[in-house]
Amino acid sequence: MEQQKLHSIDLKKIRIKDSFWSKHVNLVKDEIIPYQWDAMNDRIPGAEPSHCLDNFAIAAGRQTGEHYGAVFQDTDIAKWLEAVGFSLAANADSKLEETADEVIDLIAEAQQDDGYLDTYFIIKEPNRKWKNLCEGHELYTAGHMMEAAVAYYQGTGKEKFLNVVKKLADLLCETFGEEEGKIHAYPGHQEVEVGLIKLYYVTGERRYLDLAKYFIDARGVGENYFLRERKEPGYRNIFPELVDYQPTYSQSDRPVREQNAAEGHAVRAAYMYSAMAELAYEYQDQELMDACVRLWNNIVGKQMYITGGIGASGILERFTTDYDLPNDCNYSESCASIGLAMFGIRMANITRDAAYIDTVERALYNTVLAGIALDGKSFFYVNPLEVWPDNCMERTSKEHVKPVRQKWFGVACCPPNIARTLASMGQYIYSAGEAELYVNLFISNEAEIDLGSVSVQAEINTKFPFENEVEITVNHVPLDGMTLAVRIPQYARNYQVMTDGKAAAYCVEKGYALLTLDKDIRITVSFEAPAEYVRANPNVRADCGKAAVVRGPLVYCLEEIDNGKNLSELYVDTSREIEETDSELFGGIKKLTLKGKRIGEADWNEGELYGRHPLTLTDVTLQAIPYAYWNNRGMGEMTVWVRELV
Ligand SMILES: [Zn+2]
Repeated sequence: MEQQKLHSIDLKKIRIKDSFWSKHVNLVKDEIIPYQWDAMNDRIPGAEPSHCLDNFAIAAGRQTGEHYGAVFQDTDIAKWLEAVGFSLAANADSKLEETADEVIDLIAEAQQDDGYLDTYFIIKEPNRKWKNLCEGHELYTAGHMMEAAVAYYQGTGKEKFLNVVKKLADLLCETFGEEEGKIHAYPGHQEVEVGLIKLYYVTGERRYLDLAKYFIDARGVGENYFLRERKEPGYRNIFPELVDYQPTYSQSDRPVREQNAAEGHAVRAAYMYSAMAELAYEYQDQELMDACVRLWNNIVGKQMYITGGIGASGILERFTTDYDLPNDCNYSESCASIGLAMFGIRMANITRDAAYIDTVERALYNTVLAGIALDGKSFFYVNPLEVWPDNCMERTSKEHVKPVRQKWFGVACCPPNIARTLASMGQYIYSAGEAELYVNLFISNEAEIDLGSVSVQAEINTKFPFENEVEITVNHVPLDGMTLAVRIPQYARNYQVMTDGKAAAYCVEKGYALLTLDKDIRITVSFEAPAEYVRANPNVRADCGKAAVVRGPLVYCLEEIDNGKNLSELYVDTSREIEETDSELFGGIKKLTLKGKRIGEADWNEGELYGRHPLTLTDVTLQAIPYAYWNNRGMGEMTVWVRELV
């Protein structure tokens, strides 16, 4: 960690104009922000009610009534404001800003004199503040408020919301810590750590960073806080599934530095690891960094879906054991993949190692995009890799798997989380150092990027991921030079960097092509990343004997609409070539045509469940589309993994 950490760029100074991403990124301002505003105001017919703004109005004393919704309902508004902050950074919108300012006025009014801010406890259990850290989500909610306020401040320059969360953070500093008289505890759902660190970065208030460090250091040390808290008189079990509470669920069964494998609730884990990475850097804590590397390697090497999904169990939304990656009953929450991307970009910025970006890209191009419909109006919370819609029944082990995206959720963490991620894509595209510019993702944009005391202009033009040629221009290169680092993705072959019609000189370091610039430059990076079959480690029982088809960062899938019913009858012939064709579907994609076989049903009679009929196979041609776009043409079966013909 002797090198300085790279930082993300100012989102006000980047314009994304990309053939692949713009349609998603633009959804944030055009569809998602207005839609979520309506959802929070309970104006979407047929959607789960939110009552989020009413909760604040009641807490502020503007209206009377009861709190409605989850204990963390306040985070809906926080994540909405965070997306608004990012969106306003990219696109000024005075009407939206006015609406957001009114919401912030309401939040400030709901905040109590001592800084406390959580409508559930203010309205419903005012005497039980900080007494249910295990399930009450006060610190989780506080963390999202902090992240939102930082984004809003950075997007608009306005300080009111920032001041609200500073007051809240000051209260947390007075309430929690190792000193005598403070509560010696840590959050039941990690998130406040990330929020406090962001707040430290914009305010420079070291005590916020120290409190985040305290929460991480105290976690899992000595007697488990939650098990003790749950025995206190008056403790209320909020979530029925947590009645028999296991500390592994919240990664609090042992100190974080002693954790070797990702365990428990995946979103909690990913948010915690993200904070651990930043704290490891800020305190130059090698032991903490080693834990981050171990946990990352465990996830990516043994517990991650090919789509960048994490959290294999539908029960408790959690990691299970190494290589347990079922395709049709998994959880793989959209938020968990976002958390993985957050963890990955932090590790990449600290280590300058492109391998982390390979996973960030995997999560963003597959699970995160699949989480939202192309029209921006419905969302997946759970991201299966195989769906048989009739089978996703209530009161079964697949109840959580929804075969179609939902308009809104009672627990609406994922939609606004996707919105804030799309609205802040700029932070993933580039990373900047003192005299280094790192290009992580190939997304067309124009940006002005601060490197130390100078500012350079960068531009990327590409039709990636469907074409593998990327033009990168850097202007205003400083007089004493700089380094341009361009990622070499793990799937890229025959990687070339050209400038002025000649091969450019570069060296390779941790998966980046490093070019020394002494003047303005335009380079063209090209590589091959044809559609190809991949297989899973044979220890992944669910995928054994199967193949998936990928093209660059995109994982493909088969849908019923293209390939008929019962996708389990299909085999792919991986010895045959995969044909790529341009298609107008979904705003323009490369569709893949695969050769394979289908098991015949002709010998089987209705009602005959078992029989000695021989296996009959007929030739079929199969069509695959990017997993990111599945279920945008109505409900039907879908699968990523297909049996391989041998
Ligand atoms: Zn979620």
